[in-house]
Formats: sequence, structure tokens, C-alpha cells
Amino acid sequence: MKLLVTGGAGYIGSVVGAQLVEAGHEVVVLDDLSTGHADAVPEGARFVQGSLREAAYGVLAEGGFDGVVHFAAKSLVGESVEQPALYWDKNLGESLALFDAMRRTGVAKIVFSSTAATYGEPESTPILETDPTRPTNPYGATKLAIDGVLTEYARLHGFGAVSLRYFNVAGALGPYGERHTVETHLIPNVLAVATGAREHVKLFGDDYPTEDGTCIRDYVHVVDLGNAHLLALDCCTEHEHRIYNLGSGSGYSVQQVVDVCRQVTGHPIPAEIAPRRAGDPAVLIASSEKIQAELGWRVERDLATMVADAWKFCQ
Ligand code: UDP
Repeated sequence: MKLLVTGGAGYIGSVVGAQLVEAGHEVVVLDDLSTGHADAVPEGARFVQGSLREAAYGVLAEGGFDGVVHFAAKSLVGESVEQPALYWDKNLGESLALFDAMRRTGVAKIVFSSTAATYGEPESTPILETDPTRPTNPYGATKLAIDGVLTEYARLHGFGAVSLRYFNVAGALGPYGERHTVETHLIPNVLAVATGAREHVKLFGDDYPTEDGTCIRDYVHVVDLGNAHLLALDCCTEHEHRIYNLGSGSGYSVQQVVDVCRQVTGHPIPAEIAPRRAGDPAVLIASSEKIQAELGWRVERDLATMVADAWKFCQ
């Protein structure tokens, strides 16, 4: 297939873009490099620098595209609370420009990076796709709105859309990995202590109602996540918008993640208990039964592999 990959210079976009090239697809990356890196664009992909608003139509109008894999987004929860208008404009506004460009150029197939943040604080665990969606921050609200637009575009314009709701993504694929200027995620922050870039890691809260008091999250290797995109591209069906959770169905506590990082790196990784981070639910675990049953997706890589691959990348 000839595919437009938006945000293909970012962490997940570059890994999945590389997997798509490897699988034999023709990939064109569109990224404005606001948070991505030009040298992260997967080898073998063509790179166009620009925003979706400015450039999506021009690229798609070249012709021959079979589909779009849409990663481009702003994704910092804290920043979204401070600057909601920026998130609505970039995430929803630019997605609308992309979808409009697709409609005008007759490209109907799309796989979209949605998020567990669309659910907000869960009422029960594991989270099912049919559970209520009540995002607790503008980041999650913008992603939920985009899911809503895709439902409409499937109904009204014949899009064949799949939204994948990521839980916690970690790991790397060779030279493609996580390299955010502002790093908020747990595993890269813990590994930064092992590389010497940080002195210690802060554990945000040890008084949650979990066994060791730290938050539990559902981690998925970015390569397993990428495999779900390959499967999703094959199941995009006109006039249909499907939504799938992407998690492993089980979780690890922050403390357990730090312990695995210590084992993998052999570094003592000093940790300090810090106050809770605003808006962090105690436990976030996905039910991935739907994508397993309907697309045959399987988790193949465990937490130790995620940490080992991320560690190789950041060294
Ligand atoms: N966390 C932490 N220290 C850090 C970064 C994250 O204790 O430096 C905790 C965070 O409070 C949450 C878990 O690690 O409980 C996962 O956070 P992350 O930002 O990686 O992903 P999120 O679940 O927020 O999407």
C-alpha cells in the first residue's frame, strides 16, 4: 500500500513507520518537527516537513494513496491542562484538515492513534471499549473528539477507520525510540538515571490503593503496538469505524518498573518518593480481548524486553 504516515518523525510514528517500510509498504511521512526529529524519519520513507493544515492536501493530491496512519498530535497531559486551546487547535483542528484532505482526494482508509486517556478515571478494571468515556484532561478530550469525527466520517463519507486506544507504550526498535525534549514518561525517566543524565527518579505517590502503593499501568512494547497497526490497516472497511484498546490485560506498578530497570541496567537507580501527580488514576489496565478476538493481535514482548530495548536505544 502507499501510506501517508503523519507524525512519522515522533516516537511511535517512527517505529511503526519503520515496520510499515519493512512490511513492503510505500511510506510518506508528514511531520512539522514541532516535537519530532528529522533523523527519526524511518529509512526508506519519503519525508515532507509541514503541518497537516498546510501540507496534507498537497501530499494526498499527488495521488495513489491507499490510506493514512495518523500519529501527529500533541500529547503532554500537563501542557494540555495549561494550554487547552493549543491542544484543540493542533489535535482536533489539524485532524479535521487531514480528514478533509482525505475526503477531497478520495482516500478513505485511516488508522488513528487514540488513547486510554479517552476513558478518564475508570469505574472498573480491565477497561472495555464499551466503558464510559469521560476524559479528565484536554489531551484525552481532543482524542475522544477525533474518534467522534471518525465515526461521523465513516457514516457520512464512507471512511474505513480504526482507532487504536494505546495504554502505556514502551521499548524501541533499533535506532527508533523515545526521545522527547520534555520527558514525562516513567521508563525513559528511570533509564535516564542509569545513563547518568539524571540523579534520581521521582516516584509520584506511594499511597495509592495498590499492593505497593504506587500506580499500576498496562505497558505494551511499541513493536507489538506497531503490529496492531498492520493488522488494523487490513481490516479498514468502508463506512465502518472500529475502536480497539491496545494493552496487555495486565499491569505493573511504578515500583515494579523501577525494579525491572535496575535488573536490566545493573544500575542502583536511586528513587525518591514525591507527591502524587495531579490526575493520575491508581490503576489503568486494558481489556484487549476485542482486538485479540477480531484481529488476532497478540502481545509477544514482556516488560523486561521493553526495558532492555529502550535501554539499548538510550545508550
Ligand atoms: N511516574 C513516576 N515518575 C516519573 C514518571 C511517571 O512516578 O518520572 C508515574 C506516573 O505518576 C504514573 C506512571 O508512572 O503513575 C506512568 O506514567 P507515564 O507518564 O509514563 O504514563 P501515563 O500512565 O501517565 O500515561
